[in-house]
Amino acid sequence: MPKSKENMRNHALKRAGELKDSIKEYLEYSKTIRTGMKEWEEIRKRQDKIRSIFGVTEKKWRDWKWQIGNRIEDVDTLSRILPLSAGKMEEISLTGSKFRWAVVPYYLSLIDPEKLHDDPVYLQSIPSIQEYEDESGVLDPMFEEFTSPAPAVTRRYPDRLIINVTNQCAGYCRHCQRRRNIGEVDYHTSRDKLKAALQYVAENEEIRDVLLTGGDGLMLADKTLDWLLTELDHIPHVEMKRLGTRVPVTLPYRITTELCEILSRHMPLYVNIHFNHPLEITPDSRDACLALARCGINLGNQAVLLKGINNHPFVMRKLNQELLKIMVRPYYIFHAKGVKGTRHFRTRVEEGIEIMEKLRGFTSGLAIPTYIVNAPQGYGKTPMLAEYLVSMGANKLVIRTWENRIIEYDNVNYEENT
Ligand SMILES: *Cc1c(COP(=O)(O)O)cnc(C)c1O
Repeated sequence: MPKSKENMRNHALKRAGELKDSIKEYLEYSKTIRTGMKEWEEIRKRQDKIRSIFGVTEKKWRDWKWQIGNRIEDVDTLSRILPLSAGKMEEISLTGSKFRWAVVPYYLSLIDPEKLHDDPVYLQSIPSIQEYEDESGVLDPMFEEFTSPAPAVTRRYPDRLIINVTNQCAGYCRHCQRRRNIGEVDYHTSRDKLKAALQYVAENEEIRDVLLTGGDGLMLADKTLDWLLTELDHIPHVEMKRLGTRVPVTLPYRITTELCEILSRHMPLYVNIHFNHPLEITPDSRDACLALARCGINLGNQAVLLKGINNHPFVMRKLNQELLKIMVRPYYIFHAKGVKGTRHFRTRVEEGIEIMEKLRGFTSGLAIPTYIVNAPQGYGKTPMLAEYLVSMGANKLVIRTWENRIIEYDNVNYEENT
């Protein structure tokens, strides 16, 4: 290694040049990645059009209950908003007879009508014939029906559990892992069942972390949420609460001032969201996330690796960087499970690992989630890790760096030290 100051600077400049070169491909590709921020103007125009179809004011549009009340769930209404061929309409109806679908007008407005075949929001929300034709997979690969020791409870780990508070969501994702619960009827878990679940938590002192989800935890009424969180606050061994929700993505107007006020009274509270593509990050979803962050809530993201939507290292990098801009910390990327009707979304695990390898080192450590495969039969989240430890000798390791440099590394020998 050169020693003089000038030589060191020259060395650093050469290295900086290499680094600049190595990011060029990403920067070029990134220009082609659709984002909700870049496309906001066109999205706003589409919202005007949808509002005129529904004859609704902008104020009403921003009312989350109006959005839910006016979900699009039949092909005739859908075809007034998106250009659908007769064949497509038939396919949607047929698949819809097997698997329920519904999209709120806000989320639908993100779809570019000219790019239906590969629009990430269209693919996540409108039924395709591939769902109908999928003979593989099972409805409950996680054995959730066998991991419920009390009403509405899913317990798979020693110190934490889920309370399923509702089967409702703002919209029904085509890749949903709990689609067996999304029948024709919407329900919130009854007060009696919630009380039984709370009692189970109270009676099991090792439970220190309670996750409210379903369905979507933020589909509950403000009052019910406040009551549930208060009950959990009163159980001394419950150290923290978590909420699982997709509303900041699909229905950002649900994040009201009143909701934020309620949530801010139940610290420590963690919210995990489900963004899958940078197109979903718009000024409206940004405002929802920032409002939650301002009231002290720690936000995480749980993406699902989906073929044709985000199974590209650069798309995933962009997604995670856009998330950090709105105070959401990437937490997990889930490998898609073998749920019936979702086969067309599944990738191989190698693809997920490659995506992870193209994050580490290439971008902020904060932008790097953990890639998870859920073990069959409900045996838990299992990290799929890229290998950076090549071999381990007695006093030496061989490591592989993010750029694939193979380097020897001294391992401290304690015997010699003492
Ligand atoms: C995912 C999950 C949790 C939370 O797991 P973390 O890894 O702590 O985020 C808890 N209980 C169940 C049943 C789960 O599926």
